[in-house]
Amino acid sequence: MHKGGLVKSDKPLILDTTHYIPVRYARRLKEFDMGNLTRRIDINILGEEDKPKILEALRNIEEAVKRLKRERVLAPIRKDLEVNMQTVFRKQGRLFAKGMVKYKGLFSEAFGESEIGNIAGLVEIDTVEEMTGVIHAGSSAAMEAGMSAAAEWGVNVALALKNPRAVEWLESHAAEMVTKINETTRGDIASLVKRGVEEGWSYNKTAREISGRYEEFAIGKPQLHIESRAHLVAVTESANAYGQGNRQSIDTLTAAGLEMEHDWNTMGDDLVSEGCLENEAAGWIPLDESFPSGDDEEPRFPGCRCYVAYRRVGTGEG
Ligand SMILES: [Zn+2]
Repeated sequence: MHKGGLVKSDKPLILDTTHYIPVRYARRLKEFDMGNLTRRIDINILGEEDKPKILEALRNIEEAVKRLKRERVLAPIRKDLEVNMQTVFRKQGRLFAKGMVKYKGLFSEAFGESEIGNIAGLVEIDTVEEMTGVIHAGSSAAMEAGMSAAAEWGVNVALALKNPRAVEWLESHAAEMVTKINETTRGDIASLVKRGVEEGWSYNKTAREISGRYEEFAIGKPQLHIESRAHLVAVTESANAYGQGNRQSIDTLTAAGLEMEHDWNTMGDDLVSEGCLENEAAGWIPLDESFPSGDDEEPRFPGCRCYVAYRRVGTGEG
């Protein structure tokens, strides 16, 4: 696991070997904004009493490297998923507009909840395959990335992806997400139309508002810095599948006899939620123990930016 050496040094090193930074990571350190952390790893100038500080700095670096690697591999997956979800939302918007046309003459007395339900139902039927495919593809890619994160312990990613547990998770998860997304859309459009009825909107105004709402699902409200639903789906689904893939591959290791433990990591900024902070405060805990929130892997909620790290029991500082 620790093939590399430490950052170059003339003096004998005082560090426990489990805390070596592999050379390939050390080279990347200049890519982070590590502040004075990089100065702290200049261990030549430090004495024995500084050991705890050095260890902490190295652990922070290791964590930052893990986060960076995860982010690098997830960013393009997330982007693809977002763009593809935009396409589906826009298509749904066009189909909804088409479905409304026949009510044009009968507006507004004959356009209520059941009519919206009818149109939405047809829109869902026409797009279910595409949306499921988009989510499945994005989730598969993210799951593979999560499994690859455990490759250092010898997980065979190609094999792990074919595991019935992984296949079944991807399929049922995609189906479940499509149902949830469509339900949210339906509720949202229904309340929009209800407002229109109350305010006496014309057919044209209602149709425009509905089209606008689907466009918002796709791109949010950029001028108000409000993220789109396509973005939220991408963030949540990629994190979900990554966490699931990572955990599943770790489970294959424990099944093979390796003893592992896990650790919740937040972004460490002001936006982190209380529940995620509690999970992080639990530190390294046995794999069969859930985090305080009851979760076993990230994300804790849609939009959660945390991730779970794993290591073999006994390789920590004890
Ligand atoms: Zn979180």
